[in-house]
Amino acid sequence: MMALLSIRVVTAGAGGFIGGHLTARLLREGLEVRAIDNKPTESWQQLHVGADNLVGDLRDVGFCERALTGASQVFNLACDMGGIGFIENNRALCMVSVLINTQLLCAARKHGVEKFFFASSACVYPTYLQNDPHAFGLKEHQAYPALPEDGYGWEKLFSERLCMHFREDFGLETRIARYHNVYGPCGTWEGGREKAPAAVCRKVGEAVLDGSPEIEVWGDGLQRRSFMHVDDCVEGTLRLMASDLRDPVNLGSDESVSIEELISVTEDIAKVKLRRRYVPAAPQGVRGRNSDNSNVRLRLGWQPRISLREGLEETYFWVFDQLRKKRGLLNE
Ligand code: NAD
Repeated sequence: MMALLSIRVVTAGAGGFIGGHLTARLLREGLEVRAIDNKPTESWQQLHVGADNLVGDLRDVGFCERALTGASQVFNLACDMGGIGFIENNRALCMVSVLINTQLLCAARKHGVEKFFFASSACVYPTYLQNDPHAFGLKEHQAYPALPEDGYGWEKLFSERLCMHFREDFGLETRIARYHNVYGPCGTWEGGREKAPAAVCRKVGEAVLDGSPEIEVWGDGLQRRSFMHVDDCVEGTLRLMASDLRDPVNLGSDESVSIEELISVTEDIAKVKLRRRYVPAAPQGVRGRNSDNSNVRLRLGWQPRISLREGLEETYFWVFDQLRKKRGLLNE
């Protein structure tokens, strides 16, 4: 399927969750990949020996210029981010990621990169459209008039526009996906940056291992989201990159569930039933968010396929294994 015939593809943020999966897929497709992250390689969530792995800070213009030497395609997945608990309490840090995309675009222009991908987010959509848990799926044009998630969402919206103007003014082909919550194995599952599916898997797994009857729930559990498995995310990203779709596009599941339902599916997988302790003051984001996939279906002839039940099953058992390794109950 791949129309990616590059000599060298750069994956920025390759030590992270989606970047690690994307790098694996590109290597499987037989591409030559330079994988970049600022974390030391020991803490990359996946380290692929087949890639040219490079450690450095992509906010630095000199490093970006060296890193993109010889590149014909760049995927920018590097960002200082996390789940709702992180982005609500680290707005400045989230916005500083604007430097990464800016320096990468400048270096891409200088090196004559053919195509540039930017990982945007559903957090660009106005908060006023997301006050109802059962609100309709968000359509791409509804990002304006703009009132995105403060901090993280503004950074994403600004960086989207920067990509679009680099295409218009300098002829650099850019592709922009607005990812809606992505989950799967090898994602962040503890430490404060984890997102709802990984956090729920960890809490249920801890309850199982501790024999605890209870699970903590942020908010009232009635807030709704959709969750896309990382394999669908990578597939959609590659299809978008190979397409002529120049405007920002939703990449997300349209299977909307409440946090209560997310917990119930996880309990079912783990074969437990837990009492729920609600924490009303905890960060919980907007009331309801879902992806409208009309555009992606029409333009890419595709949409995410992996059901929440199927994807969570794999994710839960991966998180459960990480917990057991940490407690010395399973060998590394
Ligand atoms: P992640 O945090 O797992 O990966 C991001 C990686 O970027 C990290 O490994 C981090 O070390 C690296 N990084 C941060 N600052 C850097 C710098 N200055 N130089 C080099 N590397 C740097 O995040 P992820 O979940 O893989 O998300 C990837 C992209 O997709 C991000 O842009 C994110 O905003 C976007 N996104 C993700 C989701 C999701 O649900 N995971 C949803 C919407 C958008």
